[in-house]
Amino acid sequence: MSEPERLAWPGLRVVGRMVGRAMITRCPNCGGKPVLRDWFHLHERCPACGIALERGEESDYYIGGMLLNITLCFVIFAVGFWGVLIVTYPRVPWDVLQYGLVAAMVLLPVLLYPISRLVWLAVDLAVRPQSEKTDADGD
Ligand SMILES: [Zn+2]
Repeated sequence: MSEPERLAWPGLRVVGRMVGRAMITRCPNCGGKPVLRDWFHLHERCPACGIALERGEESDYYIGGMLLNITLCFVIFAVGFWGVLIVTYPRVPWDVLQYGLVAAMVLLPVLLYPISRLVWLAVDLAVRPQSEKTDADGD
């Protein structure tokens, strides 16, 4: 029977630095680049530190990243909608809101896709640091 993996909490400063690196599409571990093979795929390993970016996990690993992507898009939608509504009330540009927010909801998930994946990876690396068990193979 295998031993369950222990989770760590390195502190907000370290997590913030890792998430910050991820948000500018750099390696959450070292800040190296490029980590994106193309907009929708990561390199297998970081070219600077060699950490396994896919972490050798199953294909459902990035469901957390997708949840993050959806959440970010919803927050941007809500802030955009309420911001325009409050700022322009009572002459609310309903057409701009209707078409602009629909366009944003189509484009934002695509634009935020790599950032969501890397931020998810950053949080995962923060609480489950690289180890031989999780990252040695990278397969
Ligand atoms: Zn790296």
